[in-house]
Amino acid sequence: MDVLLDPPAAVRRRAMPPRPGVLPGAVLDFAAQGFIVFDANRRICLCNRRAAELLRLEPDAARRYRSLDAILAASPLPVVLQERFLTAADGLVAGTETVEPVPLGAAQAWLQPLSDRRWLATFDPVPPLADADRDPLTGLSGRAGFRTRLSVMLAERAADETVAVLMFDLNRFKTINDSLGHAAGDAVLQSVAQRLRSAMREGDLVSRLGADEFAVAMFPALHAEGAAERLVALLSRPYAIDGHTVSIGASAGVATGVCGAEPGSSADGLIRGADLALCQAKLDGRCSVRVFDPAMQVRARARHALEADLRAALALQQFELHYQPQVNLATGALVGFEALARWRHPVRGLVPPDEFIPVAEELGLIIDLGAWVLNAACSEAATWPAALTVAVNVSAVQLADRDHLPRLVESALAASGLPGARLEVEITESALVRQREEALHVLQALHGMGVRVSMDDFGTGYSSLSQLRSFPFDKIKIDRSFVRDLTGAEAGEAGAVVRAIAALGTSLGMTTTAEGVETPEQEALVRAESCTDMQGYLVSRPVPRDQVPELIQRLSQPYTARDAARR
Ligand code: C2E
Ligand code: MG
Ligand code: MG
Repeated sequence: MDVLLDPPAAVRRRAMPPRPGVLPGAVLDFAAQGFIVFDANRRICLCNRRAAELLRLEPDAARRYRSLDAILAASPLPVVLQERFLTAADGLVAGTETVEPVPLGAAQAWLQPLSDRRWLATFDPVPPLADADRDPLTGLSGRAGFRTRLSVMLAERAADETVAVLMFDLNRFKTINDSLGHAAGDAVLQSVAQRLRSAMREGDLVSRLGADEFAVAMFPALHAEGAAERLVALLSRPYAIDGHTVSIGASAGVATGVCGAEPGSSADGLIRGADLALCQAKLDGRCSVRVFDPAMQVRARARHALEADLRAALALQQFELHYQPQVNLATGALVGFEALARWRHPVRGLVPPDEFIPVAEELGLIIDLGAWVLNAACSEAATWPAALTVAVNVSAVQLADRDHLPRLVESALAASGLPGARLEVEITESALVRQREEALHVLQALHGMGVRVSMDDFGTGYSSLSQLRSFPFDKIKIDRSFVRDLTGAEAGEAGAVVRAIAALGTSLGMTTTAEGVETPEQEALVRAESCTDMQGYLVSRPVPRDQVPELIQRLSQPYTARDAARR
């Protein structure tokens, strides 16, 4: 047995005899790991040979030292590392547990409490970089090797030296593989590795983390953001491959830290930070560089939780539809309702669609959600008076497969018995720009079933008035931002836009609905500009389905602004 040092009598009483299942007996014979058990005063109750070895001491030092301070002082470890270990040990005694290992040069220590006011430090060697983790294509270390080497380097640096981790993702790399073949793709990756290597200083770390993701670690982290920008520019210069000139770009995420400042500056903390910053950079557009800030982590956590909840929401039947009436401006008659999705979450409350539709689109959940919305809206509308229509919003993602929506609509109509003429499908202008061909095909297929199609939020996207001519829409919904501006400082301009859209609608035989009408004044203005219909809080906010019959009843008397003002 390695152990045994003579603890002071009081400690000895507590430390011995060994308690089955805890310490020291069996555990200490397990020589692959080092162990030190210590008390609240940093006194060593027991220590094995392996612990001494990993502290770079003679094995019999295990018996010689009575306190953590003494055994560390005897080791050749830098004082900063010794202090860091003692601080972590004191923290543990005071009740703060660290989940990250404490670096000790070539070793690392894990600290945890035992149940009897004693504490355990377990020592492991930091695994060397295995050859298996070297990327054969570029010769760089892979993800695991990067993490390991980074933690070793962090431990060996002076305590207040700065460090930066820069993570890069190549843009348009896939198109090279697709268009020029994998050999060309491999050649580009080798050049990228070469460029990164040549740009870094001795002692910096360069790795290939994944397919087209690279990382570097810089000591010290001088001007890390500028360095990232220069490296992005370097990687974006053309590559000569097989007689072709190939251009790619890169995005970068940067995380900086100070060696020895846990936990943000641990290898894992830096890698996570750079990764989050890289995600942000990719979101912000091609060839951008972002520096990690803690808000990114908060956002990422919130987003993660939202995604998890949203995945379960459909199965848990947490979605519902609210209905907002649409009224004819000339007659005041109710013409129909727009179905608007809501997510009723037990903790989040009633979540508006602007918060979950984009996430559902990104996760692909919008396909199932959209199918549910369409079916629910059609069966609800089938219970209304026969003159009333229902409008359903459709996302661009639902248009990617051109046969999906027509089939879906067909089955929703069949299941509910709603005539096609009572259904309207709303497509946003931006969806139209993204999926032009598909949108046209879908629109024609829907027309074939008697279903009408509206362009939603018109004026917010990039399509021009003239583009409207090539799309046989049945209705244009004028975005509420214009309606709001009708009574604001830019009333003249907004009025001209609304007038132009309404005039074009009339000449093309399209209905024009003014969205977001909130005041009698706005109502008067959109009527004066010749819009045909309106929708907005002035008539009613969207209401849950059980309030629809009452609303139909109330609006069966032709609506006028004066009624609304009196209500
Ligand atoms: P949208 O299709 O333009 O729907 C109109 C939005 O304007 C609704 O917001 C409605 O509550 C709001 N609104 C109506 N009148 C007024 C008003 O007088 N003043 C103001 N300030 N706002 C008014 P909501 O329900 O939050 O929906 C937001 C957007 O989410 C919708 O815009 C639509 O694009 C999308 N959305 C809603 N439900 C679905 C759905 O089932 N599928 C898809 N793909 N998107 C949906
Ligand atoms: Mg809409
Ligand atoms: Mg709209």
